Amino acid sequence: MPDDCLFCKIANREIPSEFLYEDDNYVVFRDINPAAPVHLLLVPKTHIRSINDLEPVHESIVGGLFPIAAKMAKQEGVNESGYKLLFNVEKGGGQEIFHLHLHLLGGWQKK
Ligand code: 5GP
Ligand code: ZN
Repeated sequence: MPDDCLFCKIANREIPSEFLYEDDNYVVFRDINPAAPVHLLLVPKTHIRSINDLEPVHESIVGGLFPIAAKMAKQEGVNESGYKLLFNVEKGGGQEIFHLHLHLLGGWQKK
């Protein structure tokens, strides 16, 4: 894990944050600069730079993000109205934090 990785620091509680969900492998928290009424970041505790850096051993970690996304969407009340799931990959894809994370964006419409 790089010493200066913000999401490693958040995930291991070096930087205090409010988690909406946590288990042994993941944390979920709100984006500090939301691009939607509901904007969550789903973050594996394992440091992986981006989708480009996936090794076979990471596949279950990435796959595990999706059921958590569905659970969080329901918890946030956007499962029926709908939402987007997004990975930004490297600078040209809009990635700013180089620790893999899944954006969950929704809440634009109520139903
Ligand atoms: P990326 O552009 O790397 O896909 O997404 C990084 C996201 O992290 C951005 O949407 C940005 O607003 C969010 N972010 C950056 N720093 C912090 C922080 O310290 N706390 C939280 N909660 N979100 C952050
Ligand atoms: Zn990291």
